[in-house]
Amino acid sequence: MVVYNLVCPKKHSFEGWFPSFEDFQKQADRKLISCPTCGSTKIEKVPHACAVHVKKEQPPPPAKKPEPAPAAPPSPAEFKEMLIRVHHYIKENYEDVGSRFAEEARHIHHGKADERPIHGTATAQETKELAEEGVPFVTLPKPELDS
Ligand SMILES: [Zn+2]
Repeated sequence: MVVYNLVCPKKHSFEGWFPSFEDFQKQADRKLISCPTCGSTKIEKVPHACAVHVKKEQPPPPAKKPEPAPAAPPSPAEFKEMLIRVHHYIKENYEDVGSRFAEEARHIHHGKADERPIHGTATAQETKELAEEGVPFVTLPKPELDS
């Protein structure tokens, strides 16, 4: 069953119920449909309102800039990954001076050796001395690599 809004040439509108669109078409062709007000058989189907007044798509609201998420401290796994990356970077770009780190760092600091990025190991005593002498260096925890 379909319901159509129908209109006659005099703009009388009325509803017509039909088993299907084909039936409506047939009845209209045979002038079996007449205006209940004036009797006109020149009936036209009014397009459904919803087809005429197509709801305009609302423009999407301006994208709100996402609030910067508060910097969460890295999880242990993330921290480890960061460390691994840093260590990898150092390995690639820094000269490995091994246990001579404190000595080399001091030489570089005092201009006795070529200034270059170095990495190596230092004892707690050595790092303490370097710090006291004002030799710039950073210590990094060694990531424990899963085998
Ligand atoms: Zn009419």
